[in-house]
Amino acid sequence: MAASSPTASPVTSPARLTDSHGRVIHDLRVSITDRCNYKCVYCRTGEGGAQYPELGIDEYLRLIKLFVGLGVTKVRLTGGEPLLRRGLVDLVKELSRLRTLWGEPLELALTTNGHLLDELAAPLKAAGLNRVTVSMDAVDAPTFEKITRVPGSFEAVLAGIRAAREAGLTPLKINCVLLRGFNDDQIEGFAQFARQEDVVVRFIEFMPLEEGRLWTPEIVVPLKEIVERLSRALPLVEMPPRDASETARRYTFADGVGEIGIIAPVSEAFCGACSRVRLTSDGKIRTCLFSQVEHDLYGRLRSGASDEELRAYILQTVQGKEARHHIGEPGFLKPSRSMVHIGG
Ligand code: SAM
Repeated sequence: MAASSPTASPVTSPARLTDSHGRVIHDLRVSITDRCNYKCVYCRTGEGGAQYPELGIDEYLRLIKLFVGLGVTKVRLTGGEPLLRRGLVDLVKELSRLRTLWGEPLELALTTNGHLLDELAAPLKAAGLNRVTVSMDAVDAPTFEKITRVPGSFEAVLAGIRAAREAGLTPLKINCVLLRGFNDDQIEGFAQFARQEDVVVRFIEFMPLEEGRLWTPEIVVPLKEIVERLSRALPLVEMPPRDASETARRYTFADGVGEIGIIAPVSEAFCGACSRVRLTSDGKIRTCLFSQVEHDLYGRLRSGASDEELRAYILQTVQGKEARHHIGEPGFLKPSRSMVHIGG
């Protein structure tokens, strides 16, 4: 489905949600559980499970409605692992009934490790989900299972990807976080995988958002190097961006078969075009992955704030969205939560 483009809205359209840097915020990511069934070695320490509580499905729905009422047009459900969340299909069904300020259905997406997608792809599509992004960090089973620390995970995810494609949750995107000396030997294999499985493979630079302390500038495999490696295997052709806030640089191969995206938040930050805001599983607003502060929207809901008061709080919070992140700069501070507890 095409993105509901705010630029296509009439001049008389309602005010959009903007921050103090003039960016329009139309993309909400919501973590609906802090639990995850994988312990990916670059993400989790392997100890402990959920650290933060989750809200009721009706509470997520109420909070999401507030954002939609302020101009959000795209909602991505994530976690933790969102497929673990009971009530997910009902939530998607309710979200698919909402309309944007411009009268269009929401663009509804989900990010998942894909482990339970084989069973859930068809019900999610029937409930109104448009697309899924599946995280997958290797294309050979032993490497994949070493990363996830779950036996049988490769076969399960592959079945999930195929079920999602069959259900029509397309274009199907596969996100791979690359770490030097760890899974960067998978780059060429992923190019073949994109072509064979008819999926868009997107490589993502590793960010300092892990539970442990693994990140160094050297471990990041930068965009330039990925492009060089892929081009050596098969000639690449860059594709034009679809919209200004697109995070991925897109490429196809010279024969037009297969699509590769590269998301380079470290080597080529795209903060100036950021259109995102996040809601954690416990109902806190995060205006940047690297925010040092969280904004307790759910706390206000619990203490009886009206929708009008909650909307005013969202507007004020979004105004304070950070201009950019400071990865790799002296004095950089890791955020208080890691990726899995923020909602990637
Ligand atoms: N469980 C779901 C999944 O696996 O997609 C959603 C949550 S997971 C934290 C979301 C995405 O964040 C995954 O693609 C994961 O690879 C990515 N991720 C985790 N830690 C990261 C990091 N430090 N830098 C970049 N991406 C990271």
